[in-house]
Amino acid sequence: MEPVKGGTLARLPERAAKIFAELGTETSPAGYALRFAANFEGVFMILSGMSDLNMLRENVKLMSEPERLTDRELEAIARVRDVLSKTGDISCTACGYCVEGCPSRIQIPDLLACMRAKKVFLDENAAEGYDAYTANGGRAKDCIGCGACENACPQHLEIRKLLKEVSSLFEN
Ligand code: SF4
Ligand code: SF4
Repeated sequence: MEPVKGGTLARLPERAAKIFAELGTETSPAGYALRFAANFEGVFMILSGMSDLNMLRENVKLMSEPERLTDRELEAIARVRDVLSKTGDISCTACGYCVEGCPSRIQIPDLLACMRAKKVFLDENAAEGYDAYTANGGRAKDCIGCGACENACPQHLEIRKLLKEVSSLFEN
């Protein structure tokens, strides 16, 4: 499930996207994420969310006759993963399971997305986005540390720690 991590692997920072582009294939970053999941022995089904017809077409095309990844492609994927881990990328898939039980009504995936935009994509508008998401409360500093969100998170993210980072990025 979630081979493209809630769509976050579909759009990569420029330095990571360039690594795939240099391969000169027609496979998109999302396509490499799908093929990576399909490349493991014993995998017979990949569940990927799709939001438009083009995604559906690409997924059907790739998975109708899945091609094994070449050594060159596997090496490129390792390099992309290295780039993403160095940027401090966050594995939030925006599933939203953490939000409902939050007593401080913090829109956790949106705030994590703002931090990702700033750290991974160097987006200068990330702070404005953060202000918009928290205009009616639910700021990262409102977290009371109850941990309910972490119990609900299928990615086992350390949300309390991440929100402290969000707070120091956008609230100081
Ligand atoms: S730890 Fe913080 S963010 Fe998580 S549910 Fe509790 S108050 Fe909300
Ligand atoms: S439950 Fe975890 S992965 Fe899902 S939106 Fe919340 S932080 Fe992100």
